[in-house]
Amino acid sequence: MTPEQEEHLKWVEEFFTERVEPKYRQGQLEHGGDLWKKDGLIDMAIEEAIDLMVYLPTLKEQLKLRGNGAGRKVICVDLDGTLCYGESWTPENVMIAEPKQEIIDKINILYEKNFIVIYTARRDDLIPATLEWLRRNNVRYHAFSNQKIGADQYIDDKVIRESEVK
Ligand SMILES: [Mg+2]
Repeated sequence: MTPEQEEHLKWVEEFFTERVEPKYRQGQLEHGGDLWKKDGLIDMAIEEAIDLMVYLPTLKEQLKLRGNGAGRKVICVDLDGTLCYGESWTPENVMIAEPKQEIIDKINILYEKNFIVIYTARRDDLIPATLEWLRRNNVRYHAFSNQKIGADQYIDDKVIRESEVK
């Protein structure tokens, strides 16, 4: 075996031995008895396999959402002037805001391979109507914030690039 393979084997062994003893002792506390005398081990093993089949695809989705996929970025998308025309300062205005369909279509494509955060300066009392507007207009996103958060990219109608500041 190569030195890398030896190193990996050591890592696997350490990973296992660190976990098996506390797990074994915990099992004794919870279930007691001598494991090797117990009936129904096969059914218990099947139950564990079913758990695994739930955990593994869930974990895969989780990793995708958390930006561990190649090239996945956090993209903040502004609302007023970006996803819809004009500005909305009352719940009534929020609901009738005209969507910018072209932008929404682009965001919905970016959604597939990035983490989309809708952000807005709208006050808290406008948030329920805003979420409803996003739902009605089929805007796909992972998170919503009415505070500006850290991101890899911002899509905003009012951005001035650093190089353009005079
Ligand atoms: Mg704006």
